[in-house]
Amino acid sequence: MNINNNISSKDIGGIKINSKFKIHQRDSLVYLTIPNFDSSGLVKHCFTTRRGGASEGIYNSLNTSLIKDDIRENVIKNLDTVCSAIGIDYRKLVLSDQVHGDEVRVVTEADIGKGITRESDIKKVDALITNVPGVPLITFYADCVPVFILDPVNKAVGLAHSGWKGTTLKIAAKTIRKMSDTFGTKPEDCLVGIGPSIEMKCFEIKEDAAQIFRNSFADWELFMQRKDEEHYTADLWQAILLTLKEIGVQEKNITISGLCTCCNEELFFSHRRDKGRTGSLSAIIELK
Ligand SMILES: [Zn+2]
Repeated sequence: MNINNNISSKDIGGIKINSKFKIHQRDSLVYLTIPNFDSSGLVKHCFTTRRGGASEGIYNSLNTSLIKDDIRENVIKNLDTVCSAIGIDYRKLVLSDQVHGDEVRVVTEADIGKGITRESDIKKVDALITNVPGVPLITFYADCVPVFILDPVNKAVGLAHSGWKGTTLKIAAKTIRKMSDTFGTKPEDCLVGIGPSIEMKCFEIKEDAAQIFRNSFADWELFMQRKDEEHYTADLWQAILLTLKEIGVQEKNITISGLCTCCNEELFFSHRRDKGRTGSLSAIIELK
């Protein structure tokens, strides 16, 4: 049986949620994991939701961003809550500094705590990779696509923040290439999780963005459609899937959560839905 075909179902706040990611609920805390990452036994990881935190107002409640105008001690408490649930020391987190670019940073023990307990020199970086056990990576989201990567052969991990710009820059593939150059990773060995983010029907773009997709993808018609005179819709999950298959990642190793951040308000923050006034979700991973 292919574990990727298993659907996890949970009733969250009276709404039934189904996903190919596993949905975990502990008291008020809700987070997601990728089944084949779990069964590898090699990593601690999760994608956060907005449920189970201490923040209030637009950040209600599990905002994980330290760079918004939320109360810092609440955000620290939120990071501690979710990291404790998966067995990670939040004080060791290594934070990205995302700019919708395609820079990939190799993280080592020397980076532990950067951006959380000490000053960081990790700037303008949208993807983090490491092969060092005990070094937790974290990247931030509110509609953009989180891409989790695990190379179970060379024991290395990566996180890529793939918004629409990052997707046109093929940051997921560049992250795996960097893992190949640095750790000897083979794309065909990699397990990949494509996490909660904005789905096609909620992601409307105009001609300027559509043209950038056409310039980046010869096969853009496989994931982008005209909606009306002025608008297109684009399926970022499919675009990333194409990007990954192009470099040799096996489709059977790719798990797409299928959850939209924009139309699951009870579960996720969404930049587009909340017109920029919203909290941040996180992808977190650490090699055991
Ligand atoms: Zn949606």
